[in-house]
Amino acid sequence: MSFEIPGVLWRRDPQAAELPLVFDSPHSGTSYPEDFQFSCPFDVLRTAEDTYVDELYAAAPELGATLIGAMFPRSYLDPNRAVDDLDSALVDGTWPSPLAPSHKTRSGLGLVRRVAKSGVPIYDRKLGVDEVLARLERYHTPYHRVLDEACERAHRKFGVVWHLNCHSMPSQRSAKKGGHCVDFVLGDRDGTTCAPEFTAFVAQVLRERGYTVWINEIYKGVEIVKRQGRPAMQRHSLQIEVDRSLYMDQKTFEKSPGFDRLQADITGLIEALKSFAGAQLNGGREP
Ligand SMILES: [Zn+2]
Repeated sequence: MSFEIPGVLWRRDPQAAELPLVFDSPHSGTSYPEDFQFSCPFDVLRTAEDTYVDELYAAAPELGATLIGAMFPRSYLDPNRAVDDLDSALVDGTWPSPLAPSHKTRSGLGLVRRVAKSGVPIYDRKLGVDEVLARLERYHTPYHRVLDEACERAHRKFGVVWHLNCHSMPSQRSAKKGGHCVDFVLGDRDGTTCAPEFTAFVAQVLRERGYTVWINEIYKGVEIVKRQGRPAMQRHSLQIEVDRSLYMDQKTFEKSPGFDRLQADITGLIEALKSFAGAQLNGGREP
């Protein structure tokens, strides 16, 4: 069974023998709500999207995994931020509960973004308290509920769950200073959100396919892996970022010729994870 909350999210359930593998793509949504009322250029706003990441992992359900995708854009509300990671200066009025703004909020990239990118404010207005509360209730809460349920269901059935939180990162290959040249970045918050074997396995599969992989550099993982990852309870959660220049034109937002190859390699990664999960469930033997 699969389902959708229109404009909010969809969940695609396993179409083959189920495995305790859950993938989610929280930032690939492109359905911009009518009440967004942003005032920055749309093409700058869109750079916040992890465009097409859900499509890169589209083979997950036919291989026995669950795949969840947000339909709303991350610039409207970021499900990868805690509900108290909010900038009170964005809000017109008094926020009804205590706030704990992180360094993400301080740089304008919190729960509700202040900037589309550095120096480009998204709004020319303050947001009403009710407006932000409505975004939380309509988008943040159901996203986490559906992800929690999928991970809990798998964990109940198998005693273990491996969750991959899927993202893409702006390419900085051409940056003169401070640029990085890496294809994938894995983040387990310095080894706290999954067993080290899981991170090592994903890194090895990608490196064998010729990609460069960093671990816990630049992107360590944020709210979603923090919420899902309880390795001592066999709940493993890993963030994976892929360089956008491998699959899309970052100016036109069109897929690039590299899309098909990357998608095939990610399907290969999911197949490898299927073997990994099968072997672990069989007490270390290959299924
Ligand atoms: Zn992302």
